[in-house]
Amino acid sequence: MRQPILAANWKMNLGRPQEALDFLHRIRHPLGEIEGIDRVLCPPFTALSAVAEALSRSPIKVGAQNLHYEEKGAFTGEIAPAMIADLCAYVILGHSERRATGSLYETDAAINKKLRVALAHGLTPILCVGEKLDQKQRGETRAWISGQIRAALEGLSADQVAGCVIAYEPIWAIGTGQAATPADANQVILASIRATVAEVFGEVPARAVRVQYGGSVSVENIAEFMRMPEIDGALVGGASLKMDYVELVRQAAAAKH
Ligand code: PEP
Repeated sequence: MRQPILAANWKMNLGRPQEALDFLHRIRHPLGEIEGIDRVLCPPFTALSAVAEALSRSPIKVGAQNLHYEEKGAFTGEIAPAMIADLCAYVILGHSERRATGSLYETDAAINKKLRVALAHGLTPILCVGEKLDQKQRGETRAWISGQIRAALEGLSADQVAGCVIAYEPIWAIGTGQAATPADANQVILASIRATVAEVFGEVPARAVRVQYGGSVSVENIAEFMRMPEIDGALVGGASLKMDYVELVRQAAAAKH
């Protein structure tokens, strides 16, 4: 039985500590009371410390949106794993907005290094994978996702893979209001993500690893996604910045139980 997990990717929003705390003040009690689902808030680095402190005695967990794979050194503007490891339980890695498909040109090799270093620091990676619209239209989704999974998880142990979270985020669905159909997302997760993990690491981690769907998740569609057997949760962007997020988590938990 995989524990459902809903993660909020605040992206480059709510980054001033006070605005993050103001929003947190509105959501933390109703969010904290929802049972049977892991809840993770991923603020910008600038608000991480304030949010982590405010949630130190809460069941709500904190995640970062990225990290650098080096421990320290001349990497202007970057954040080393040790700088966030005491504040966070999770870290989003390989988001499409940071990859070569987005604007920050992160390679598969860099993402693999980030996963290794995150795990070494006791952080749970939320590894994002997803295809572009033209890849989907050419029928390349399966091969593309499988390649991203192999590259990102290379060299990890089966146990480490089982402990990761993978987010299937079709790029064409992110921030567009055009979510994938739950059945399609379920199929990609089964045939591309779990199948690849099974091929490389075995059936046990393939069944154990938690897989989220991400891309225009809303209060209107979350329950349907959560009813899919291969979908264990969601990575939520836009809708996580509103009070909607509490309702979304409530519906997600109810749909899985
Ligand atoms: C995301 O960027 O991870 C995401 C899923 O965004 P949205 O929910 O806004 O589509």
